[in-house]
Amino acid sequence: MAKWVYMFTEGNANMRNLLGGKGANLAEMTNLGLPVPQGFTITTEACTQYYEDGRQINDEIMAQIMEAITKMEGVTGKKFGDKENPLLVSVRSGARASMPGMMDTILNLGLNEEVVNTLAEKSNNPRWAWDCYRRFIQMYSDVVMEVGKKYFEELIDEMKTKRGVKQDVELTAEDLKELAEQFKAEYKEKIGADFPTDPKEQLMGAIKAVFRSWDNPRANVYRRDNDIPYSWGTAVNVQMMAFGNMGDDCGTGVAFTRDPATGANGLFGEFLTNAQGEDVVAGVRTPMHITEMEQKFPEAFVQFKQVCKTLEDHYRDMQDMEFTVEHGKLYMLQTRNGKRTAQAALKIACDLVDEGMRTEEEAVAMIDPRNLDTLLHPQFDAAALKAATPMGKGLGASPGAACGKIVFTADDAVEWAERGEKVVLVRLETSPEDITGMKSAQGILTVRGGMTSHAAVVARGMGECCVSGCGDIAMDEENKKFTLAGKEFHEGDFISIDGTTGNIYDGIIPTVDATIAGEFGRIMAWADKYRTMKVRTNADTPADAKKAVELGAEGIGLCRTEHMFFGEGRIDAFREMICSTTVEEREKALAKVLPYQQEDFEGLFEALEGNPVTIRFLDPPLHEFVPTEEADIKKLADAQGKTVEEIKTIIDSLHEFNPMMGHRGCRLAVTYPEIAKMQTTAVIRAAIKVKNAHPDWAIKPEIMIPLVGDIKELKYVKKFVVETADAEIKAAGSDLQYEVGTMIEIPRAALTADEIAKEADFFCFGTNDLTQMTYGFSRDDAGKFLNAYYDAKIFENDPFAKLDQVGVGKLMKMAIELGRPVNPNLHVGICGEHGGDPSSVEFCHKIGLNYVSCSPFRVPIARLAAAQAAIAEKNA
Ligand code: ADP
Ligand code: MG
Ligand code: MG
Repeated sequence: MAKWVYMFTEGNANMRNLLGGKGANLAEMTNLGLPVPQGFTITTEACTQYYEDGRQINDEIMAQIMEAITKMEGVTGKKFGDKENPLLVSVRSGARASMPGMMDTILNLGLNEEVVNTLAEKSNNPRWAWDCYRRFIQMYSDVVMEVGKKYFEELIDEMKTKRGVKQDVELTAEDLKELAEQFKAEYKEKIGADFPTDPKEQLMGAIKAVFRSWDNPRANVYRRDNDIPYSWGTAVNVQMMAFGNMGDDCGTGVAFTRDPATGANGLFGEFLTNAQGEDVVAGVRTPMHITEMEQKFPEAFVQFKQVCKTLEDHYRDMQDMEFTVEHGKLYMLQTRNGKRTAQAALKIACDLVDEGMRTEEEAVAMIDPRNLDTLLHPQFDAAALKAATPMGKGLGASPGAACGKIVFTADDAVEWAERGEKVVLVRLETSPEDITGMKSAQGILTVRGGMTSHAAVVARGMGECCVSGCGDIAMDEENKKFTLAGKEFHEGDFISIDGTTGNIYDGIIPTVDATIAGEFGRIMAWADKYRTMKVRTNADTPADAKKAVELGAEGIGLCRTEHMFFGEGRIDAFREMICSTTVEEREKALAKVLPYQQEDFEGLFEALEGNPVTIRFLDPPLHEFVPTEEADIKKLADAQGKTVEEIKTIIDSLHEFNPMMGHRGCRLAVTYPEIAKMQTTAVIRAAIKVKNAHPDWAIKPEIMIPLVGDIKELKYVKKFVVETADAEIKAAGSDLQYEVGTMIEIPRAALTADEIAKEADFFCFGTNDLTQMTYGFSRDDAGKFLNAYYDAKIFENDPFAKLDQVGVGKLMKMAIELGRPVNPNLHVGICGEHGGDPSSVEFCHKIGLNYVSCSPFRVPIARLAAAQAAIAEKNA
C-alpha cells in the first residue's frame, strides 16, 4: 500500500519533493527539537492522485488521513470534534517550491456551533472562541466554497461602524458571536446549504480545496513565470493550532534572519499581539517591529533568537519564519530559505562565503539568474533624484525605481500596459488576484501593509519596485483618485516611486541604467571562474555591443545586418536596391549601401576589441523595407528614374502569402548574389581597417548565412562570399582570416548537419525560426492560441521563450552529433531568444554548445546560468 501521509516526526528536509517545502521543513524543525505544533503532511503524490481520480480523495488516502488524525489525538489528548477538549487544526498548502500567496490556508478547523459554545464557556475566553469560529467560517467559505472574502469583510466593517470601533481587536465576544451568525447566514444564502458541522467533512473539504488550488489561474501564471512544472502537485499540511489570538500575552509574527530587501545581517520582521494567521501580512493592522517583541515577550523572544540561529546555521541560508506566541510560549509554524531581492541575494551569498558558511560555488548556485534582471533595470538618475523633493514616504519594500501613470486596479494596469503605457499601480492593499496587474506595472504603491505584506512579498519575488504602507495617502479607490501632500491625483497622472527608500515623488523622474559592481561584480567573477560555456550577445549596433561588453559579453553571436538599414539616408539606398529591375541597377544601389555597412561593421569590431563577431547576412523578406507612403514611393521613383506605377508594380510583386517561409534568408543571396557580395566586401574591408589600426586584436569575422536547408544552398552562396573576400584581402595585402558558417534554423539543416558541416566553419542555432519551423506555427501569431494551450495544459510555457528541449532540443543535439565528427573545428552556438533563458542555457551546456548569445541585458543572466550548469554537472 502506498504511503500518502507522513507525520511531521517521519519526514525531513530532504523529502521536499514528496512533502513540499513547508511540510519537509516542518518535519526538519520537529527533528531539530524546535517547538512545532504536532501535525502531518499529505504528499504531493496524493495531489497527483486526486487529479487522476477525477478530483476525488480516494478511500485509501482518506483512511490514512483519518489514521493520522487519530495519532495526533493520541499525542495531544485532544479529540477531533470533541466539545470538551477539541482538536483544532490548520490546513495548509505547500508545494515543492514556495508559491507565496498562491494557495490558501484555513485555520481553526474542527469548530461548530456546539463545540464553540462549550469552548467559550470552559475556556473562560469567549472572545477567543468566537474569534476562532468567525475566522474559520470566513476562511472556509472563501477558500473551500469560493464565496468571496469581500462579503465577510463588509460585514466586519459594518459591525465596526455599528460599534464605533476601528480595529478588529476592539470587537467583543458578543460582536464576534453575532458576526459568526451573520457569516453563516451569508454562507447559506450564497451556497444554498448550511455551513458544514462535521469536522471530518470540513477537513476533507479543506484538503480538496488545497489540491484544487494547485490548478487555479493565479497558480498557473505563477508557475509559468517561475518555471515550476504543473506535474509537481502540492502537499497539504494538517497541523494543530497554536493560538495567537487568546489575548495580549499572545501574538503572531513573521521574521527573516537577514533583511530580505538589502541582505543586511540581522533579525528583520514584524509582529502583532492578539492576532492570528495572516493578520500580519494582510496589512489590516500595522504590525510592530520584531524587536519590540523583546519587551512584550522577553522569554519567547530570547528563545526565538536562538531558534533563528539554529535554523540559519542548519540551512546555511537566510531563513523566513512564521511563528505564534500562545500565552507567552513560542511555536514555530514555518521556515524556509527566504525570498529576497536580487540585491539582497548577492549580499547574502557573499556574506555567507565570508562567514565561512558557503563555498564560492555554492554562492553562485544560490542566486536565481532570473532575479538579476531587476538589477539591470533602471534606477533614478542621481542628479534628478537629488533635485526632487519627495511628497510622501512609505516603506521601501522592493528596490528599484518606477515612474509611470497612476492606475487604480490590476485590470487597468494590464490594459494600459498592453497599450504600451508605463503605469504605477496604486492600491489600498493588494491581494493575490492582483498578481497579473502587478506584473504589468512598473511599480506598486500601497496605502496599507508592512514589509511582509502581500504586495511587498510578491513584488520582491517578481523583482518589481514596491513602496508599501504609505498611510498618508487618502485613498478613494472607487472614484479612482487619492490625495497626498494636499494634492489630488487621478488616473493617468505621473508618479515616481523609489522602492529602496520608500520615497514618493510627484511627476516624472528620469531613470538611468544600472552597472555591475560590488557584490554583483564579485558573484559574476565567481560565475566566470566556474563556467565553461562562453556568452556572447545579439547586438546590431556599436552602442548595444558596448553595453553588452560592459555586461560581460565575450563576442557577438548575432548581428542582424538588416536592422542597420532603417537609418536616415540608408533606407533610401536600400529601397533603390530592392526596387531595381536589373543587376546593374541593383549594384549601383548596393554601392550606396556599402559605405554605411562598412562603417557599422567597423563600429562593431571596435566595440568588441578582437572578440568574435558573427555577422548574419540579409535575412528578412524584402517587402518589410518598401515604402507605403505615397510621398516615399514618389521619392523612390524619382531617384531611380521610374514612374510611380512601375515602383508600385514592383512593390506588389514582393507580396507573399507566407513571407516567413518565403523569399528570405539565403534565398535572397541565391537570387541576388550581388547582395551577399556587397555585404562580404563591407565585412572584410571593415575588418582589415580595424585590424590595421589595432594589430594586437585577433580580428576574425564570422560570416553567417541564414536559413540554409540544403548543403547546396550554402555551397552556392559561400562561393560568392569566398571569392569576394579573398579578392578583397589580396587587394589589401592583408593576412586577415575569416569564417563562413550557417544558422541552423530549418529542421532539414539539423537533419543533414553532417553534410552542412563539410562547408560550415560554425553552426549557430537560430531557435526562434527553428521553433517556428519545428512546431509549424508562426512566432508572430502564436499569441492567438497560446492561452488556450496553457489552459488545456498542452503547453506550460511559451516555446519561443523557453526552449522545447524534447523536440527542438533533439534537433539541436542531433545537429551537433552529426556535425562535429565531420568537422572537428566546428564551433556551435545559439542566438535565439532562448540564449538568455536560464533553463535553456542549462540545456545548451548539457548538449555541449560552445556559446550562447543573448540580448545585452540578459548577458549576466546567461553567465550565471552557464556557471550553475557547469557546477551542477561537476557535482552530479
Ligand atoms: P502561506 O503559505 O500563505 O504563508 P501558511 O500555511 O503558512 O500559508 O499559513 C498562513 C499563516 O497561518 C501562518 O503564517 C500562520 O501564522 C498561520 N497558521 C498556519 N497554521 C497554523 C497553526 N497550526 N497554528 C497557528 N497559526 C497557524
Ligand atoms: Mg498566505
Ligand atoms: Mg506561511
